[in-house]
Order: sequence, then structure tokens, then C-alpha cells
Amino acid sequence: MSFATDKTKLSTSGCDFIDEAYLHALLSRRATKEEVADVIAKSMAKKPLELAETAVLLAADGPELVEQIFDAARRLKRDVYGNRIVLFAPLYIGNRCINDCRYCAFRSSNPAAIRRTLSADEIRAQVEALENAGHKRLILVFGEHPDYSPQYVADCVREIYSVAVGHGEIRRLNINAAPLDHAGYKIVKAAQIGTYQIFQETYHHETYAWVHPPQTRKADYLWRLDGLARAMETECDDVGIGALFGLYDWRFEVLGLVAHALHLQKHYNCGPHTISFPRLRPASGVELTRKYMVDDEQFKRLVAILRLSVPYTGMILTAREPPELRREVMKLGISQIDAGSRIELGGYTEAGDAQVMEREQFQLGDIRPLDEVIRELLTDGYIPSFCTACYRLGRTGEHFMEFAIPGFIQNMCTPNALSTLMEYLVDYATPETRQTGDAAIRRELDKLPDSERKQELINRLQRIQETDERDLYF
Ligand code: SAM
Ligand code: SF4
Repeated sequence: MSFATDKTKLSTSGCDFIDEAYLHALLSRRATKEEVADVIAKSMAKKPLELAETAVLLAADGPELVEQIFDAARRLKRDVYGNRIVLFAPLYIGNRCINDCRYCAFRSSNPAAIRRTLSADEIRAQVEALENAGHKRLILVFGEHPDYSPQYVADCVREIYSVAVGHGEIRRLNINAAPLDHAGYKIVKAAQIGTYQIFQETYHHETYAWVHPPQTRKADYLWRLDGLARAMETECDDVGIGALFGLYDWRFEVLGLVAHALHLQKHYNCGPHTISFPRLRPASGVELTRKYMVDDEQFKRLVAILRLSVPYTGMILTAREPPELRREVMKLGISQIDAGSRIELGGYTEAGDAQVMEREQFQLGDIRPLDEVIRELLTDGYIPSFCTACYRLGRTGEHFMEFAIPGFIQNMCTPNALSTLMEYLVDYATPETRQTGDAAIRRELDKLPDSERKQELINRLQRIQETDERDLYF
């Protein structure tokens, strides 16, 4: 069985836009101090970078230049996103899979993997546990399998939105699953999904072919590369790209991600909503060469360079990384993290303190409970946020970009973040976190200039504490 790309099913922009010779040529250049300073200045003006400009930052590897890049990334993050960090949790629905990706424990040839698809009742139980912990935003994760058709995904989404315990509810469901055709995206979009994520894994063709054996569906590089363009052509205009770092040269993958973002921007007038940059983790039965492993220093550089290259794209840092590193990398440009995550199938009700490798796709680096992560964020001066307002008011895709401007944060994002934080503190927090959170909310209110908006926010925060009113957003 082989899967040649069916070109008639590609998007109107469907082509292989990864020009490897050009990317390698860019990576072979050196960068002067002056060039680096010019590129940083462009980023600080919040202009997306061209590939050649990103390559200048990738070429800068002396300690002084790297520190300049880190410093710029920290400042840009503060300017564009303020001090909010949006929180979500992954929910694995099923690990059946027809593919055989060499890096993944769910690959079809792994006999040790315990295969399971959650039943509707089991899904509800997981969602109840997540709601009881305080979650409002989830990403659903699926293997690639005929059982997980677009209709099945849409049914899961509707089921989950219908689960409500106490003040708990899921307000936004993102999806990480196989690329679909146009008709498939329409079906999942109709169920009110948020972001549709597809990671290219590696943009390097030869490596892609090596990690995705030829007889498998995922071996079709172009079908996957074009996956999110098809989504955007079917009103799924909210998409997330990603690369799995550790398969090939990290610098090349950064250029691949930026090329992907530029391609979507050019053809759909809107770049991806988010970028993910998972690093390869130990996984059941997986043995890969360490040649391209990305160390912590390189990881920090790639995050900072991505931040500077795509100023308005959300950046997701997952619990694959250990707590100390998450804390450090967060400052360099992260806008979303998952917390309290378990990725064993059924893990939110069944897992103990330890992870069971045969039941999960890879090993997580951070399995602290949500409350602990929130307390740490508050202590570090962040506002943990469960806000879902933009998506629910239609401020997504092209329209969202209009709002991702200064002033918008102060008037919309900060108030909404504080309201959702207050909900968490009142409904789910431990006494210690409640105390830390109350102090943080006072601190943030003090920073807001007096205005009608601020008065209304204070009024809403009061109502959340004294009544059952929830989900108040601007
Ligand atoms: N099966 C779908 C797919 O492959 O597109 C859904 C995504 S998969 C369940 C989620 C992502 O996990 C993959 O896209 C890959 O980037 C990442 N992943 C797989 N194995 C990993 C590992 N060993 N360490 C870290 N991330 C891994
Ligand atoms: Fe299957 Fe996705 Fe794992 Fe590949 S990465 S084996 S497609 S679950």
C-alpha cells in the first residue's frame, strides 16, 4: 500500500513551498552584529520577519548576541502579550493508529502500546475530572485511524461541550489530529472547534521520509504540509503549526516553521494562531539517534527566535518540558502552557503519581497539579488566564489580528484574564493559591488606569465572588 498525494484534493495554494536548497543556503551565511541589531529592531517594531532575517538570528551564536536576542524576545512578549499565560490541558481520546512514526509510542508496530479508545462515558468522566480541577480549555488528541473520522471527532467535541459540573464547563476545545480533506474540516468546524493543530514534525524531506515509513499515510509530506491551508479554506481559519524538535537540525526546523507561517499569511491573509515546538521525549519502545537532540540552551534560542520572527503568533510550551526549564523559557515569548496534564488514556481519573509508559505517547516532564502551576505563575508575576472571549466573539483568524494590538490587551485581555482567574480562585483553588491570587488581582487592578472599563471589571470580580454568575467577558 502506498499513498501518492491526490493533487485534486489539495488546497488552491497546495504546493511544496519548502525550498531546501534555499533554506540551507540561508543557514550557511554568517551574521554581523549590525545585521542582528537591524533584524531585532524590525521585530521590536512588531513586523514579521522574512526567512533571510530569521536566518540572521539563527546565525548569531556568540554569548553577547544570544543575550541580545533573549532580551528582545522578553521585551516583545511583554509588549504584545503582557504578563498573561493561557492555561489548557490535553485530553487523549484514542491511541489506535495506522501510522508507524518512529518517534511515537502509538506507532502501529509498537507491540507494547496498550490500545484504547475512550467510550462516551469515559470521556465524560475525564472531562468532569478536568472541570473539577478548574480547566476551561482542552486540546483533544487522536491517533490517525479510520475509527477517528471527522464525524467521530465532531461527536466527541459536542459530547465534551455538554459536560457541566458545578460551575465547571469547557469553553474551548482545540484539536490535534490527522490532516483532513475539505469536507472533513467542515464537519469538525460545525462542532465549534477552536484551533486545529497539525505538526509537520520535520520540514526536512529526507528525515521526514525516514521517520514516516513509506507504506503509511503520514509518509505523504505534501498532504500534511497542505493540511492547514485546506483547513483555512473551509472556515477553520484558526490553525496551529508545529515541529518536533530533535529529528533534524533545529535551525532548519525554525526556518521551516517560519516559511509555513509566511505561506499561510500570503495565501489566506492570516498566519497560524499558534506555533508549537515539542522536543522529542523518551517514549515506549522508541530509540532514536541523539544526533539532532536539542539541548536546553538551543531550545531557549529557538523559542526566542520564533518569538521575534512571528510577533503576533501565540507560542505554546508543553508539559513535555520540566518545571524549571518551563519557568525560564516562559519569559522568552510563551503565551500558552498546559498544566495538570496527564496523557495516559484515562489518565485524569486512573493514573497515580507515576507515569505508565505503555499507556502514553511519550513521557511528560511536568505533571504537577494545575493548582501548583497556577500558584507558581502568580508568584512569578504572571496572570494565569482561562480566557476564551476572542474565539467566542468571532475575534479569530484575520479578524483576530486586528485586535492583537496594544490597548486591546489592557481593555480586553487583562480584564478577561482577571475574571477567569477569579473564577478559578473562588471555585477551585487551594487556600494558599487563593491568597496568592487575590493579592495578584489587587496588584493588577492597581496597574490599570481609572476608567469605566475598570469599574465594570471590579463590579464583575465582586459578582463572581458573591454570586453564581460566571463567564463574564468583554
Ligand atoms: N496522530 C496525530 C498526528 O500525528 O498528527 C495527532 C498528533 S500526536 C498524537 C501529537 C504530537 O505529539 C505529534 O504531532 C508529535 O509532534 C508529538 N510526539 C510524538 N511522539 C513524541 C515524542 N516521543 N516526544 C515528544 N513529542 C512527540
Ligand atoms: Fe500515530 Fe500521531 Fe503517533 Fe504518528 S505521531 S504514530 S500518527 S499518534
